Amino acid sequence: MADLGSAKSTANIINKYGFSFQKRFGQNFLIDEHVLDKIVDAALVGKEDGVIEIGPGIGTMTQRLCEAASKVVAIEIDKELIPILNETMSGYDNVKIINADVMKTDLDKLIREEFSGMSVKVVANLPYYITTPIVMSLLENHLPVESITIMVQKEVAQRMQAGPGTKDYGALSLAVQYYADTYIAANVPPNCFMPRPKIGSGVIRLTVRKEAKVEVADEKLMFSLIRAAFNQRRKTLVNAVTNFPGLDYTKEDIEKALAELDISEKIRGEALSLQQFAELSNILT
Ligand code: SAM
Repeated sequence: MADLGSAKSTANIINKYGFSFQKRFGQNFLIDEHVLDKIVDAALVGKEDGVIEIGPGIGTMTQRLCEAASKVVAIEIDKELIPILNETMSGYDNVKIINADVMKTDLDKLIREEFSGMSVKVVANLPYYITTPIVMSLLENHLPVESITIMVQKEVAQRMQAGPGTKDYGALSLAVQYYADTYIAANVPPNCFMPRPKIGSGVIRLTVRKEAKVEVADEKLMFSLIRAAFNQRRKTLVNAVTNFPGLDYTKEDIEKALAELDISEKIRGEALSLQQFAELSNILT
């Protein structure tokens, strides 16, 4: 099967099968060979690795992943794409295509059954409508994956990587950075996709940490404090936390904890680092 990474070969396949793009599945297919190579390079996929690809589309990136990895399992929700994938992937014997919704797939079981003894990496040009739920469920469930290299909206990549005091810094930055080290590998303009999205995209690699970056006694409490802080990000942390439903602390509790950490009681949550949120939650536990 010919290399698919161009507008012409994608258009040929689409026409041959009479395929129509489904907006509800976030279908914007990559048609730029440099970008495809960049994603596979950024994912650091080696010959010993297993790869889970979420949303293979017509198989453009899947072909490259099969060349680079030991085995690829590609999970595609749209059944109209399955006959196309069967054709475009016919030259590879190290790929398995699963017609399923990734959000309803038991990935832990899949990894145990398909990738025994392999180091596993997730690689995807993600459907943007479910980027955050997919990424957070991969990280929060502590799946045995080494890294997650994904194409996401440019702003989302920036938010994942942002640090304290910047406009992009928020609950997503802290949640991602608690579990993983981030690296933005590329910015990708709309003309690299068919059909063109309205917004720019970015490739980000999340290298999952084996050990937590910060010691946290009660993760749930820390993430509630983070949600409270960014729910009302223009307020002081003291006010944001005491107003937040589900958190039962007085102003005095928070002020005392901040004093212990040598942090001003006037501080806003958006100025606190992950380490400081962890320390604050440990004091309040
Ligand atoms: N990987 C292809 C590429 O780069 O050209 C397609 C990327 S496209 C942005 C997203 C793909 O994810 C589509 O093929 C879409 O049908 C699929 N998809 C959307 N929601 C999904 C879900 N919940 N589970 C699995 N695949 C999904």
